[in-house]
Amino acid sequence: MIALWIVLAVVVLVTILVSSVALSRRASRRGPESAAPPPSAPTATPPPAPPRRATPPPAPPRRAAPPVPAPPQPETGEPPPPAVAPTAEAPPPSPTVAVPDDGAGAEVVAPADLRDRMGKTRGVFSGYLRALRGRGSVDGQTWDDLEEALLRADVGVATTTALLEDLRQRVRSGELRGPDAVVAALRAALRASLEVAGGVDLRFEEGVTNVWLFVGVNGVGKTTTIGKIARRQVAQGRTLLLAAGDTFRAAAAEQLGIWAQRADVGLVRGAEGSDPSAVVFDAVQRASARGQELVLADTAGRLHTKVNLVEELKKIRRVADRPPGRVTEVLLVLDATTGQNGLTQARQFLDAVGVTGVVLTKLDGTAKGGIVVAIQREFGLPVKLVGIGEGPDDLVAFDADRFVDALFE
Ligand code: GDP
Repeated sequence: MIALWIVLAVVVLVTILVSSVALSRRASRRGPESAAPPPSAPTATPPPAPPRRATPPPAPPRRAAPPVPAPPQPETGEPPPPAVAPTAEAPPPSPTVAVPDDGAGAEVVAPADLRDRMGKTRGVFSGYLRALRGRGSVDGQTWDDLEEALLRADVGVATTTALLEDLRQRVRSGELRGPDAVVAALRAALRASLEVAGGVDLRFEEGVTNVWLFVGVNGVGKTTTIGKIARRQVAQGRTLLLAAGDTFRAAAAEQLGIWAQRADVGLVRGAEGSDPSAVVFDAVQRASARGQELVLADTAGRLHTKVNLVEELKKIRRVADRPPGRVTEVLLVLDATTGQNGLTQARQFLDAVGVTGVVLTKLDGTAKGGIVVAIQREFGLPVKLVGIGEGPDDLVAFDADRFVDALFE
């Protein structure tokens, strides 16, 4: 029995010995990398990877979305506009957004010629004058022709009557003899009626933030005129901002934005329906903080709420006139093609804000250029600028000599 136990023990020992030798041989054949770590040793290696799938590897973790760009500000690092003491009619906190300019300046091409663009007015007027001169003497037909020429050119009844009455008197007295003398006297009288105090230069004062307000009914060409003037002012080296004071129509601010880009100037605009005086106020503050000299401010032109509009314009003017701002021009924009209706419109704006001059637009598209004479005679207001097309440079300073020459040539 003891011998049996001894044999069993030997067999077990031999088996253990043989299997351990075999294991160590296999391990030495595989090399050291694949050697299994000792089971008890703590490991920093990750757990075995899960079996690879055929699907693409997961996307890298998503980064936080970039922040929505804040509305552009006029410039970085500039001090905020100075606070203004609240008053009874202080505008609400600024709801405006400023679109910066890059200061590159706009290239302005040579302005178009007034004479060329006034073709229609010239055609009507000079046609009558030719017929009149063709007759040898001054008679009833002469006065009828002159009256029709002046009325068709839109000089207006009151001005036409006054001009012709004076000429008749001078013919009767023998001072004027023959049609040529009458035409020459008419020319001189028209030229004299365009002599209005103040001249055509747009008023600008040093040391303040000049504000030029543009008023007039919708569609007359306010926005277009502001854009054209901005280009010219930039070309002259002035620094300026546009203010979208027509908050009633979102499209008006959009359109002004396009002009601001064309002229490389900044734009201050508010939310639709916001207080326009707050927009203008904000524009003045921003311009002042940036050392800019001029704000060109658009205004609403809706006539159907006339009373409100008048009050709104008065308030804009008062707010814009607070230091550092100063309203140095209030330009009434009139559409020449509306003829005498333009004068009716003009009266409403004259009452509301002290208009300093007129911009007469669309003189290129009408035979009614005589409205210039009516405006200056009836209101004593200078026509300072004339729009002669839709292009960015189709704006010229009104030149009375060229205007009259163009009519009579
Ligand atoms: P607003 O409503 O007073 O701002 O008028 P806009 O500036 O929007 O102009 C109304 C329309 O008149 C636009 O189609 C302009 O292109 C056009 N317009 C403006 N000025 C002139 C001009 O001098 N001549 C011509 N032919 N069109 C003009």
